[in-house]
Amino acid sequence: MPATAREFPTLALERQADGTVELTFVVPDYRHNVITRQVLTDLAAALDELARGPRPRGLILRSGREGSFFAGADLDRLDTLPTLPVAEVGRLCDAGKELFARLSADWPTVAVIDGACLGGGLELALACDLRVATTAPHTSLGLPEVKLGLLPGWGGTVRLPRLIGPGPAVELAASGEPVDGPAALRLGLVDACVPPEAALESARRLLAISAAGDLVARRRQAMAAPVPLDHAERDFLAATAAAVMLGRTGGRYPAPPAILETILAGSAVAAAEAARLESTAFAQLAATPVAASLLRVFRIGERNRRDPGVGERGAAEPRSIVAPGVVGAGIMGAGIAAASLRAGFATTLVDVNADALAASVPGILEEAAWNRLTKRSDPAAALALAGRLQTATGLAALGGCDLVVESVLERTDLKQQVLAEIERAVAPDAIIATNTSTNPIAKLAEALAEPARFCGMHFFNPVRRMVLVEVIRGPATSDATVAAVVAHAKRLGKCPVVVRDSPGFLVNRVLMPYLHEAVEMVREGIEPARIDRVARGFGMPMGPLELYDMIGLDTAFYAGLVLSAAYGDRIEASPLIPAFVKAGRLGRKTGAGFYRFQGTGPKARISGSDAETARIVARYALPARETTDRTIADRLFLPMLLEALRVLDEGIVRDGRDVDLAVIHALGFPPFRGGLFAWADSLGAAQIVRRLEPLADLGVRMHPTEWLLAIARAGGRFTD
Ligand code: NAD
Repeated sequence: MPATAREFPTLALERQADGTVELTFVVPDYRHNVITRQVLTDLAAALDELARGPRPRGLILRSGREGSFFAGADLDRLDTLPTLPVAEVGRLCDAGKELFARLSADWPTVAVIDGACLGGGLELALACDLRVATTAPHTSLGLPEVKLGLLPGWGGTVRLPRLIGPGPAVELAASGEPVDGPAALRLGLVDACVPPEAALESARRLLAISAAGDLVARRRQAMAAPVPLDHAERDFLAATAAAVMLGRTGGRYPAPPAILETILAGSAVAAAEAARLESTAFAQLAATPVAASLLRVFRIGERNRRDPGVGERGAAEPRSIVAPGVVGAGIMGAGIAAASLRAGFATTLVDVNADALAASVPGILEEAAWNRLTKRSDPAAALALAGRLQTATGLAALGGCDLVVESVLERTDLKQQVLAEIERAVAPDAIIATNTSTNPIAKLAEALAEPARFCGMHFFNPVRRMVLVEVIRGPATSDATVAAVVAHAKRLGKCPVVVRDSPGFLVNRVLMPYLHEAVEMVREGIEPARIDRVARGFGMPMGPLELYDMIGLDTAFYAGLVLSAAYGDRIEASPLIPAFVKAGRLGRKTGAGFYRFQGTGPKARISGSDAETARIVARYALPARETTDRTIADRLFLPMLLEALRVLDEGIVRDGRDVDLAVIHALGFPPFRGGLFAWADSLGAAQIVRRLEPLADLGVRMHPTEWLLAIARAGGRFTD
């Protein structure tokens, strides 16, 4: 029992009988502990109290929340950064550093890290003399600021290289990827790694050991001095790290090189000087448009996490799914089943084809047991999960399921038949969803007696990597169904966007103009490689013609038919795609499409341009136009924007921010541009209208929508 205790709004200060003091943080009103203004105020007040005496023998920092040390700084604080003057941001960094430096005063401090210890949370822990992490799988230590276009500004770039060496420090801070407790111990980031129940005792022991020797004094000396690193080592690190970063970011993100420079420059000088360098670099990054874009992307993601997917009336308490099932063990069904198992659900998987079913199981278990921190599948976890995956060849096995996702072949008659069978197999209140890419939900719902409990749940390939899920409302779908499916998608770690039933839903509809325009440009004689290079230069992970080859031209042809039937005035079915299909050029899977590949499949390399492509294109050639790389980019991305404006105008989505999340998470639209509408804002509506003018003769697809013209006239913005 503590000898005395004092409560602050976010922390408790307890003086123990042995003379040590424990500061235990619980930040109310947040799911995880985050560093709010109140936390900083309380920490300052607690340190003032300690300074008044009696002097503690040692200080232990810990969280009163299981599985959450500090998940980072409060987003609302970060969000204001791009709006503040640079000098003010620098001052905020300095103030945080000064406060953290007071943790290790006349006494040794140790942090007990159980759960997320990220960003400012890790910087807080680094400001302590010693650290104990737990072996629990929920424990992760990292500096994710780079993902927001920032660098650690509370001493992370100063203390980390002094503790673990500049190379590992650069890797940790520039990748933003966290490590678990054991990996943190191997790096030297923590001094001990023990099970959660032994952590506090371990911290006390560390304090006792440090009191007996000069460990803390030596460490403080090392933390204050420059890092011993000779010129050759520094130059080698600078060159190799810079090359790796360029490869990862294409030079589009200023934070990773700034982290490298700050760590290297800060390592060469005393810590006090390094701290000043860090504050300056942080303030400069916070003022960049890239940081503003990445903060926006983060913010709209957070908003999505809180969005129940329906209006307040339907949002009351979404039903919690406990027994999900999947029908169809193909590429998609297997991915969905793995996501479900991984999220902790005992899952039923049905496929009529026993061989396909059996073949899918090892991959599902491997994926479900994948450990992101060790980047390996955990065999023990896979074994444990095997007992939670029930497989069957008959739909009767779904009897106990409360949500079944149908993911069989994309054939309307087959889907309708399977959906009707699912409805007969499950309880009257179970929810039924379809992972269709192109079928109208209203059409599939015709097969069901109770369409209110039916909706689309459109995942993207590969399910393990693609976080977007379109939740599609049919005309009869109830609010309760949508809310339950949205909540379930979030429990699978996905980002669900609610979309009204209409051809192409949201993602394929905004993708199609981009793909279509690329094909038209090929017909005008522009090299596929040039079009793809321009798209990648814009920041897309791959160009539209590379994407065609990856999706498969047969699949794209079919999806294109659905869209051209619906929006024929702007998306005509191009004759080029069926000509490629007829020639057996389906893309990567056949070794040739717009490009020729060495081999087949997702890993096959492009072997160069292809005479046959040119021959087929010549048959459907269009008159050439004068084209610059700028026009190519305008022709790819402006029709995408126009379609997104129509989607919003027609109420297909409830909010423009959903479109931005969808294009980023499903199409790889570059996050550094903040989303389609944030990019549009960076150009301004009036300029967009001007840039569409020379393209107007291409047809309706390049004509500004009424809404765009209205925004341009009013000088308004797309993201407001
Ligand atoms: P797939 O061909 O890999 O798998 C389909 C599976 O369904 C097969 O294992 C088959 O045996 C099974 N099946 C067929 N009839 C069945 C029945 N009556 N009962 C139970 N199982 C049956 O297909 P996929 O690529 O996984 O696609 C599945 C669905 O997902 C399709 O609707 C597709 O449009 C959609 N989709 C696919 C992708 C993609 O990129 N592949 C992306 C998004 C959505």
